[in-house]
Amino acid sequence: MADVLLGIDLGGTRIKTAVVSTEKEIRARDVRETPAKEGVDAVANAMAASARAALEEAGADRALAAGVGAPGPMNWQTGVVYSPPNLRGWKDVPLAELMRERLGIPCFVDNDANLACYGEFWKGAGQGVDSMCMLTLGTGVGGGIIVFGRLLRGIDGTAAEIGHMTVQRDGRPCGCGAKGCLEQYGSVTGMVKTAKEGLEAGKESSLRAVCADDPRRITGRMISEEAARGDAFARWVIQETGDWLGVGISSLINLLNPEKVVLGGGMISAGDLLFDAVRKRSRSDAFDVPAERAQIVPAELGDDAGVTGAAGAAWDRLCEERQR
Ligand SMILES: [Zn+2]
Repeated sequence: MADVLLGIDLGGTRIKTAVVSTEKEIRARDVRETPAKEGVDAVANAMAASARAALEEAGADRALAAGVGAPGPMNWQTGVVYSPPNLRGWKDVPLAELMRERLGIPCFVDNDANLACYGEFWKGAGQGVDSMCMLTLGTGVGGGIIVFGRLLRGIDGTAAEIGHMTVQRDGRPCGCGAKGCLEQYGSVTGMVKTAKEGLEAGKESSLRAVCADDPRRITGRMISEEAARGDAFARWVIQETGDWLGVGISSLINLLNPEKVVLGGGMISAGDLLFDAVRKRSRSDAFDVPAERAQIVPAELGDDAGVTGAAGAAWDRLCEERQR
């Protein structure tokens, strides 16, 4: 059995674990519910149980290290999670230490969006590059930035909140308290909002029949499905979403001159309809040289990005610690 690492993704509803070899192969997985209502210790116990189950399935006695991706702000160096938005009652939880006690191996905690980016960099669409950005398009827009082959974290570890770049002054209100953030337009939630606004303004679309003429029922899936069936308005909604993303991405391209911009999340199944709009806007708004350089490409790891990145980042941090 080759040396293996644990990658654990702690979500508000699910704990996902993978055993990943140092050759970047996933050897086993475990998924279970997050006992969020039972408190911090119950969640840590469930994560440890998930890790042990995955190790057993992989036929491994122990892992070299574990990486844990958690939502929200945290101190990635100490592994203290401040107050994750989807884990109520959590306040300044020393998650790395709790996992170290339970697993008996080095444990590293990091922001989940950063780790998804690291996963694509380590094994996926960004393999071999020196600089890249990743946007995960879901309920919000998760962000990660790699420069000089490392995650850009900022002095407090809060960097790369790409979803909260302002793209519209006094625009749609955002959960962060500001207005006009990219994720209010470029996330699935933002796309649904764009569709609702259009239908309420009287646009004709097959979406009306699908949602029984109640725009509040619209989902991202309905928009994708109607667009695939050729509905002009649904297609416009996806292109408009891509256009907003392109506005934000053109700023990233001008700021960072990255080799790749990787887009992940369920929305990327819209394919060229989305990507062509993103590319068109980024090329027209960014400077020519970095705009031509930056390849805007779909993520390759899907749901595995988070656990893969957690394992890969833990491996790299372990190697760095050994060198000190
Ligand atoms: Zn915001």
